[in-house]
Amino acid sequence: MELARRDEVPAELTWDLSLIYATPEEWQADFDAVQKMADDIETQFKGKLTDPQTIVDCLAHLEELEKKAYLVGSYAELSTSVDYYNTENQERAGRFGAAMAQISSKLTFIDSEILLQPDEVIKGAIELSKGAKNYLKDLLRKKPHQLSPETEKVLAAFSQTFGAPYEIYNMAKLADMQFPSFTVNGKEYPLGYSLFEDDYEYERDTDVRRAAFKAFSDKLRQYENVTAAAYNAQVTTEKVEATVRGFKDVFDFLLFEQKVTREMYDRQIDVITERLAPHMRRYAKLIQKKYGLDEMTFADLKLPLDPDFDPKVTPEEAHKLVREGLSILGEDYVSMIDEAFEKRWIDFAKNQGKETGGFCASPYGKNSFILLSWNDRMSDVFTIAHELGHAGHFRHCNSAQSIFDTEVSGYFVEAPSTMNEVLFTDHLKQTSTDPRFRRWVLANLISNTYYHNFVTHLREAWYQREVYKIIDEGGTVNAEKLSEIFKKNLELFWGDAVVLTEGAELTWMRQPHYYMGLYSYTYSAGLTVATAAAKRIEREGQPAVEDWKKVLDAGSTLDPAGLAKLAGVDISTDGPLREAIDYIGSIIDEICALTKEIDGIEA
Ligand SMILES: [Zn+2]
Repeated sequence: MELARRDEVPAELTWDLSLIYATPEEWQADFDAVQKMADDIETQFKGKLTDPQTIVDCLAHLEELEKKAYLVGSYAELSTSVDYYNTENQERAGRFGAAMAQISSKLTFIDSEILLQPDEVIKGAIELSKGAKNYLKDLLRKKPHQLSPETEKVLAAFSQTFGAPYEIYNMAKLADMQFPSFTVNGKEYPLGYSLFEDDYEYERDTDVRRAAFKAFSDKLRQYENVTAAAYNAQVTTEKVEATVRGFKDVFDFLLFEQKVTREMYDRQIDVITERLAPHMRRYAKLIQKKYGLDEMTFADLKLPLDPDFDPKVTPEEAHKLVREGLSILGEDYVSMIDEAFEKRWIDFAKNQGKETGGFCASPYGKNSFILLSWNDRMSDVFTIAHELGHAGHFRHCNSAQSIFDTEVSGYFVEAPSTMNEVLFTDHLKQTSTDPRFRRWVLANLISNTYYHNFVTHLREAWYQREVYKIIDEGGTVNAEKLSEIFKKNLELFWGDAVVLTEGAELTWMRQPHYYMGLYSYTYSAGLTVATAAAKRIEREGQPAVEDWKKVLDAGSTLDPAGLAKLAGVDISTDGPLREAIDYIGSIIDEICALTKEIDGIEA
């Protein structure tokens, strides 16, 4: 069936961007205003940021500019995200992008002039400032790693070149790599990158699934050397920057922005690798038995436990479900959920030119907007619960903090969203006595929430750490070495429960995350805090909910360890990790027991 055009979908299935600007004219007025504000800041402050008061005044102006620019940008980007074919949207987003590039280059003087001041001047400004205290503290923290203005300028001039490895990676993967079709039992099947990752990995016909994996891997292998060379250039560049900026090692450099210690980072990777493995091996065995497979191979790991069970849900039912499922978070949280559905924060529509996947955008000073690929499935309701977690987070911190204090560390940012998935699952499980429904709910939590964050991305994190260790000692990596590391990584985790089909070692070629620093491990970090906080809320109720709200209010005024502590979760120990892993183990126990009850299969 052909998808509808955007102008053909019913309004009630779309989000209401007039909540940001009632008309395009209003948008235009703010767009013009932002540019004028930037000019004014330049005229008024350039060359003058030498005393605390002037610095504070300048940052107050910048704060106002950022608030307006956020709205202007959100409106432009959100309208484009649901309708790429609309030339008016395209043009608006294009104009915004160009204007922002100009504005940010015009305003680079602010940070660089402040960084040239003696510490006392910056500290004086911190004392005086209201909204920009942490902004200034961050600058002070960066100061020891700042190079001379000349050097910074040269580095900035090379910024596009520094981005080349990622560009080359994407070109190889998305432009050059053409997948041929493959044949199984005389039938031909088309193949493509997303076709493989979105469909064939879940294909129930074992011959087709495994043949797809082989065809996919064979094509990947033809690009292993160019991909490895791009990646080696990426990590070598990071190491050089770490060294010239005076960081102890490349890990310190990459963790600096996240405000995470090496210990926290290592613990995440080591504890999950060691303690989660036995549980996941058992889950793999269960899938193997359920499908009657001769052996469990790497190509079989994504198989769903009960693909025939798929309850249908409408948006109205989704509203009711998440409303009940998250009611433990209190009345004001529930009223936000009602508002999200009633005031049309959510875009359910399916139409041509709409972005796929899901996200939540939370423009400062307004409500959040949630984009979905809604397919009437129960799994879509989990996505809503997740995205509402982001909405709830930014509803709190956007109203409690200045715009500068809403840049939450990657280590923590997925905690409120994944916590909703845990709370929602625990609630949903109790709403039915149907064992098949209960098993579906639990299996969903494992195969989506935990598998994604604790297995897929954590294996990436383990591999990345090995690569950076080599780079840190002055070494380099090539395709052979990278495959060797990834194979060892998978062997370590899956043991003899999973046969590592040829091609599994090439998994290092599949993730764009490797071009984003130490990002992969943060998925599990957010969910670790989320699990511990959710369990505390379920145990203690109101007091734990109140603490959680304080955490949401705090925005980025605290570092990740401080935020977790406020929620009653001590991530300076391995306690929360062990708790999360034990919880995963208990869910897998329950899934095994239900499978015995439903199918008579014992694992
Ligand atoms: Zn999220």
